[in-house]
Amino acid sequence: MKKNVRHTIIIPVYNEEAVINETYRRLTRVMESTGEPYELLFVNDGSRDRTAELIEGFAESDGCVKLLDFSRNFGHQIAITAGMDYARGEAIVIIDADLQDPPELIPLMIDKWKEGYEVVYAQRSKRKGETLFKKWTAAMFYRTLRALTEVNIPLDTGDFRLIDRKVCDAMRSVREKNRFVRGLVSWVGFRSTAIEYVREERFAGETKYPLKKMLRFSLDGITSFSHKPLKLATYLGFVISFASFIYLVVSVAQRLFNIGVVAGWSPLVACLLLLDGVVLIILGILGEYVGRIYDETKNRPLYILRNKQEVEEAKPEIEVICGVL
Ligand code: UDP
Ligand code: MG
Repeated sequence: MKKNVRHTIIIPVYNEEAVINETYRRLTRVMESTGEPYELLFVNDGSRDRTAELIEGFAESDGCVKLLDFSRNFGHQIAITAGMDYARGEAIVIIDADLQDPPELIPLMIDKWKEGYEVVYAQRSKRKGETLFKKWTAAMFYRTLRALTEVNIPLDTGDFRLIDRKVCDAMRSVREKNRFVRGLVSWVGFRSTAIEYVREERFAGETKYPLKKMLRFSLDGITSFSHKPLKLATYLGFVISFASFIYLVVSVAQRLFNIGVVAGWSPLVACLLLLDGVVLIILGILGEYVGRIYDETKNRPLYILRNKQEVEEAKPEIEVICGVL
């Protein structure tokens, strides 16, 4: 079985006991229909429910099921990265466990891959069953990211995509800590195409992306691929200095000609507070980048596995040559 795996499906899971049976059933049905050898690589991201136990149950009767078991919750993007480290297929598909990404699209992705595309991403034409807030914040996020970053990250795509072995190996060679997988895929390049789909409602259970995680995720996306927020300080500095200069000239003129002189402190205090706010925001932005530099220098492993002995890491077949000019 070792060398034979043609397709690997990576499924990050975090507290998904409510859906995992159905996910396994639908993925197996779809993958069997391809008639080619495959593996379902579940990455358990420190679930506190029975998710891991259920997956072990599938693995007992089905040799196509593999489980990577994290020692704690390391996050969705790290779970995908671990999946890539251990995937043995020639084509690798990343899919969410909650069936919002329909597994039935996988054969279409495989067809595109066989046509010669190295990245086939699924683009959401519609999102069902998500709150207006989530849809709106997601739309804003993708557009801001596009405006701020130099890498061409396609709009409205999640991590549901197929990547070729070459792309997987190239991404594995990039070991930055605050990972934003969909940005990295665009960054490594290769020939890509899209297929459109309607994003379904979650089959069961609740979203594992509360607002706090969503914010962290967006910050990772922007700071990993753009320095533009750092330049904000310079632009704002210029605008504010110019405005204060005009204000100064006007105040001096008012004093000299004794017209409309405003008594009291309020405008002054308001201006000072405004400036303080701006300075704090800029310090915050600097802090975000400095924190990330600190994470990189600590050079900790991205994740820790509970069951390291049972699963074998994939060795890159093609050496990816990363040159620095
Ligand atoms: N997930 C994970 N670790 C986390 C959060 C989420 O592995 O810390 C998995 C989760 O089990 C699911 C996928 O990532 O398979 C996407 O999560 P979810 O569906 O909750 O996000 P949403 O679709 O609401 O953005
Ligand atoms: Mg979901």
